[in-house]
Amino acid sequence: MSKNQDLEKIVEKGNNNQKNNRKKNPFSRLGKIIGYSLLGLGTAAGIGLLSVYAGGKVYQNIQKEYMKKIPEIKQEYVISANHSHSEYSLDCETPLEDIVKGCLENGYEIWIITDHDNAEAFEQLYDYATSTDEIPEALEEIEFKPINSYTVKASWDKDADKDGKNDECYFPKGEEVSMLDDEGNDVHLVVIGEYIPESWQGVDETIKSCADKNVVVIVPHPAAGKMGAGLGTDKTIDYYPDGLVDALEVNTSFPWPLSIYFNGSVERKVEAYNKETGNNLSIVANPDAHIKGSYFWTGVTLLEKDYEKYGEKGFPEDDIVGYIKDCLENNKLSYIELEPHSWDSFWWLVRGFIGIDSKKTSD
Ligand SMILES: [Zn+2]
Repeated sequence: MSKNQDLEKIVEKGNNNQKNNRKKNPFSRLGKIIGYSLLGLGTAAGIGLLSVYAGGKVYQNIQKEYMKKIPEIKQEYVISANHSHSEYSLDCETPLEDIVKGCLENGYEIWIITDHDNAEAFEQLYDYATSTDEIPEALEEIEFKPINSYTVKASWDKDADKDGKNDECYFPKGEEVSMLDDEGNDVHLVVIGEYIPESWQGVDETIKSCADKNVVVIVPHPAAGKMGAGLGTDKTIDYYPDGLVDALEVNTSFPWPLSIYFNGSVERKVEAYNKETGNNLSIVANPDAHIKGSYFWTGVTLLEKDYEKYGEKGFPEDDIVGYIKDCLENNKLSYIELEPHSWDSFWWLVRGFIGIDSKKTSD
């Protein structure tokens, strides 16, 4: 045996060892798993973000089409929204001024601010209307008028939506009331009108307390279940046979494509429920807006005007709650689900989930 053969053996052994060690090394395997997982997650996230963006674009174009037709739409319908937030919600910073001006500029005739567990925005508007409070500079050109204890009218000498009339919008009182379900979860109910139930009562108790009152009761984001402080569509519909809920909501604060999943499920359940029971549960579309840019022409409910019955305006300014109820009960409405600000909603939700947004404490 020469020295060289010994050397070859040693080299071979060393090579095999290296290979074997590499196979046995748990870190290299873990590294691979982590690497591939990150690659997979990255790709999925990339596709997800792109689709959110692209979906938003499609809706933005539809939104533009609608906004071009505001004067025609207003001939036949009251442009309305039944669920939105202001600076009086802990998870929202939008100034009341911006909402009031935005409504007048965007052709809305009925707008309901439904802050979490308070109606301070309405009280503030009512104060402006009864001049017990000073109207801020930003709202100086707007005239506020109290219609009744739960409705304020805002108007100005401008025709921003170009329908040939000066803009005016009615703000009935409303609130997004927190309740507790059987398991102690926080679930929400939108109540509009003269009576607002106390927060943090049981679901059944809260809904039943609205029965003999002059109010409209809407279940917000029902399909989102606990995640969206809703009951889940099935459970929500169980309450309806009592006739105490006026409508279920399709909600445009969910970013696309989540909105398709959640809102699609509401539409299917309501349709199946109505078919099965012969009832007439309505659907409304609402912005549930918390962030700038998501308020107007996102979730819109169009209520039919009736000039014969109500005269010049086509709806009764002193009984807006009764009017909304009538439209819901008799199918005199149409709802539009636009989601032109998916991108903003997406980041708002992400920030909320990871708790970056200091003002966000609930959904
Ligand atoms: Zn809300």
